[in-house]
Amino acid sequence: MREGIHPEYKQVKVRCNCGNEFVTGSTKDEIRVEVCSKCHPFYTGSQKLLLEAGGRVEKFNKKYGRK
Ligand SMILES: [Zn+2]
Repeated sequence: MREGIHPEYKQVKVRCNCGNEFVTGSTKDEIRVEVCSKCHPFYTGSQKLLLEAGGRVEKFNKKYGRK
């Protein structure tokens, strides 16, 4: 790629709260995220998350007497 065509778009380091770092393309200098593909429940344990969510809904329904 020739320089100067997209001067704002570059490779930047993304730093996650879990300590994971990865590189992505962005116009920013550095990106900080709270969750990434490594620690986000959606990626790391979607099945577990679904089960937990299901249990929570059940508990919620019981608490408020929903049927
Ligand atoms: Zn992370």
